[in-house]
Amino acid sequence: MAGLQLTGIKKSFGDVKVLHGIDLDIADGEFIVFVGPSGCGKSTLLRAICGLEEITAGELKIGARLVNDIPPAQRGIAMVFQSYALYPHMSVFDNMAFGLKLAGDEKGATRNAVMHAAKVLHIEPLLERKPKELSGGQRQRVAIGRAIVRKPDVFLFDEPLSNLDASLRVQMRIELANLHRELRATMLYVTHDQIEAMTLADRIVVLNAGRIEQVGKPLELYHRPDNLFVAGFLGSPRMNFFKGSVRVGGHNNLTVGIGDATFDVDTTRTLAVGTEVTIGARPEHITLGDNPGGVPVEVHAVEHLGDVSYIYVTVAGSDVPLVVRSAPDREWEIGQKTALTIAPGWLHVFDEDGRACR
Ligand code: ADP
Ligand code: MG
Repeated sequence: MAGLQLTGIKKSFGDVKVLHGIDLDIADGEFIVFVGPSGCGKSTLLRAICGLEEITAGELKIGARLVNDIPPAQRGIAMVFQSYALYPHMSVFDNMAFGLKLAGDEKGATRNAVMHAAKVLHIEPLLERKPKELSGGQRQRVAIGRAIVRKPDVFLFDEPLSNLDASLRVQMRIELANLHRELRATMLYVTHDQIEAMTLADRIVVLNAGRIEQVGKPLELYHRPDNLFVAGFLGSPRMNFFKGSVRVGGHNNLTVGIGDATFDVDTTRTLAVGTEVTIGARPEHITLGDNPGGVPVEVHAVEHLGDVSYIYVTVAGSDVPLVVRSAPDREWEIGQKTALTIAPGWLHVFDEDGRACR
């Protein structure tokens, strides 16, 4: 069991700088999920932690031990990739036992470790099969089982479920959560799946272009994003943004507006009247209806998903598009005129640098 300490971790490939100084403390047993756009350095960071890539600058500690120069096999880490990388000619049992045999483990102990992992992952009946006789989900379980038998202090997962179909992903997601509860190991997990991030993580780390944008509990990040990037990255459909300006400046309260509409926002920031801001509101915090004081809008598209509907509207007299979450039983027509209101307290305001004003 071990926590990790990342201090000023940088990674370059030749002239290409990929990680620009990552500082992060991870507690023993924590489930950390890394999210961020494709190419932002998630895989590079995991590969640096497990030792497949050399760190260009900074310090990496696993437990109390500085591991910058420790080879991968001695770091107490197991990594599970998106491609399962099983040996095709070996049985499931041998695939799982392979790492232990290499490490010179005794036969009995190897067998016990494989049988235990197979039980945890419900793959006991598959142990004699070859990888080609397995479904995608079963192969992924074998890859995870191979990691478990090594009893690592830290598990690294790089998009382990991306190759599975939707229903299997849900099942494996729940099993991973159970596995974490059972093993109590530290887990670092990369995904681009928002639901995996929100449901599995103790804390989410949002990466952007090789830098950390924000670290926090899933709902903390969702409801209190520090900046425009995090606000726009988490949530689907994403947060609505529109340009506004400060109508009444102040210390505890701002009034911001678009068109003729104004909204009051609690804040500790003082912004001058006239300051240009970006206003953000999530689809579920906006309601449509003929509310007095609402902002006039026109419906221009409707999506019924069954459990929920998304209504795309534009603010009258502008081309500002917004998406609103609506109950599925409400009828909407294209071209319909209505008004929107934003739930008090759920308006986000970002300054010219994209920092949240709170
Ligand atoms: P992510 O996993 O977030 O999609 P990666 O960590 O795979 O992103 O890649 C981050 C950046 O580093 C990309 O621009 C990628 O092209 C670059 N990169 C990754 N590996 C290498 C390498 N071995 N040599 C050069 N550039 C690399
Ligand atoms: Mg990647």
